[in-house]
Amino acid sequence: MTIDFRTLANIGIRNLTPYQPGKPIEEVERELGIQSVIKLASNENPLGPSPKAIQAAEHALSAAHIYPDGNCYEFKQTLAAFLSIRTEQITVGNGSENLLELVVKAFLNPDETAIISQYAFLTIPIILKSYGIQIKVAPAIHWGHDVRHIIQAIDKKTKMIFLVNPNNPTGTYTHANDFELLMQSIPPHIIVICDEAYSEYISHHDYPNTLSLLAHYPNLIITRTFSKAYGLAALRIGYAISSSEVADILNRARLPFNVNTIASHAACAALADHKHVERSIQVNNEGMQQLESSLKSLNLSFIPSIANFITIDVGHAVTVYQNLLREGVIVRPLHAYDMPRHIRVTIGTEAQNTRFLAALVKCVQYEKSD
Ligand SMILES: *Cc1c(COP(=O)(O)O)cnc(C)c1O
Repeated sequence: MTIDFRTLANIGIRNLTPYQPGKPIEEVERELGIQSVIKLASNENPLGPSPKAIQAAEHALSAAHIYPDGNCYEFKQTLAAFLSIRTEQITVGNGSENLLELVVKAFLNPDETAIISQYAFLTIPIILKSYGIQIKVAPAIHWGHDVRHIIQAIDKKTKMIFLVNPNNPTGTYTHANDFELLMQSIPPHIIVICDEAYSEYISHHDYPNTLSLLAHYPNLIITRTFSKAYGLAALRIGYAISSSEVADILNRARLPFNVNTIASHAACAALADHKHVERSIQVNNEGMQQLESSLKSLNLSFIPSIANFITIDVGHAVTVYQNLLREGVIVRPLHAYDMPRHIRVTIGTEAQNTRFLAALVKCVQYEKSD
């Protein structure tokens, strides 16, 4: 007798389409038989980790036989001092996506619903669906979250609102006054998760200072990561900042060893290396200017972005994506976001950006003009 194990899976998992990560360099080189492929597909730091973080990770390896400190004492002390918060407000995660899942696991019951914006980071609806949670999608405006539409979407069943700021894959952001409007407009039992995976890159005066709002809004949870500006994506470490009451709940839902020793040591060293972060931000700002001005002169429209990636209207994105692969450049086509005309490109080093632009010029020529 054969069993169809799909019918055994819970309903949320059975019908799930898994998240499609950026294609690994080795896979493209193997499949196409080409070399020196560059990956601008997962918003990684093109400078790599801080050398001090690498050193700390190497040092921590000698204790790899010892279980991690489940409470991440050193890391929490370092982070609390860095952000001027209390250690009780921190929940650590195996990447910030782990925290997005912990929030759902800890707070949502099957009959409660969550609101996300159209074009929001796909990992969030995937997590919600896997827990069988109903999702309400608030329409975007100019590709960005619209807090008025989010507020309108609230009903009796709403328990949670996800705001991705800036949003991946659009690079758009919710301004401080809109964010405060949202927080003021919602009842205190609705939990707002503000995903700030790119916050280190941002110095815009109208980007919300969510940390300063935590004292007024104990229903606010902020998530951040070491995967982007800090260049530690492979080590998997992120964190949530919240009221200590909320952090206590999240820590109950957390598995005890979700962050490993190598990651927490590297993260402490990365936090201390201000120069490396500053250089990363500078390379990103210069690269963004380089790409924006070239795209303008190529007459290609893009969505203005404040993060470390830019999303470009190239006509038929999957075709352009495949052509770019043959040129040895991996980007991300956005059909899964219902954006079939757009590719998302991570800002690289100047040389990587130049190589991408040269490849793009070749590849968009394959498109029929309409
Ligand atoms: C990259 C990203 C994350 C997840 O990063 P982790 O590696 O899990 O920390 C979360 N949210 C957004 C919007 C992202 O772009």
